[in-house]
Amino acid sequence: MAVLDILRAPDPRLHAIGIPVEKVDRGVRKTMDDLLETLYHKNGIGLAAIQAGIQKRVVVIDLGERNGIPLKPLLMANPELQWVSPATQKTQEGCLSVPGYYENVVRPLEIRVSYLDENNQNQLLSARDLLADCIQHEIDHLNGVLFIEHISSLKRHLILSKLRKEKKQRR
Ligand SMILES: [Zn+2]
Repeated sequence: MAVLDILRAPDPRLHAIGIPVEKVDRGVRKTMDDLLETLYHKNGIGLAAIQAGIQKRVVVIDLGERNGIPLKPLLMANPELQWVSPATQKTQEGCLSVPGYYENVVRPLEIRVSYLDENNQNQLLSARDLLADCIQHEIDHLNGVLFIEHISSLKRHLILSKLRKEKKQRR
């Protein structure tokens, strides 16, 4: 496993569209493992391959624990929303590609998602609350969409101009 470099906005590669995985083979499995190690290294809860410059529809999610019970990490290829609830939730989101900024995003409260797991098995998962929010955030990445595209353009431009300045100072 390896810790991967994460792209930071603004970066055109973050707007690339992920290509579907034909099969979860050893190569895809390695990408999943690397993403998971990177996620733990950065203390995140979700990471999409696009954020590491890998143009594949692969995401990993680990919410840690719920009510003291550890949750198994979710490794997903080709995740696709099959249903979303009309009811919505407002969640404060952040993103490893938009470091340091947190904004409220409104998304469906409950979802049903299909995907291929790390053993190339078809899965259908129902999720709500934070897990549903996180899955939707990661699927957005596979379509080249950052969470700041769900907030007002004024706020988005402010965040992007600050990130641009930070990038310049770092060089
Ligand atoms: Zn993100």
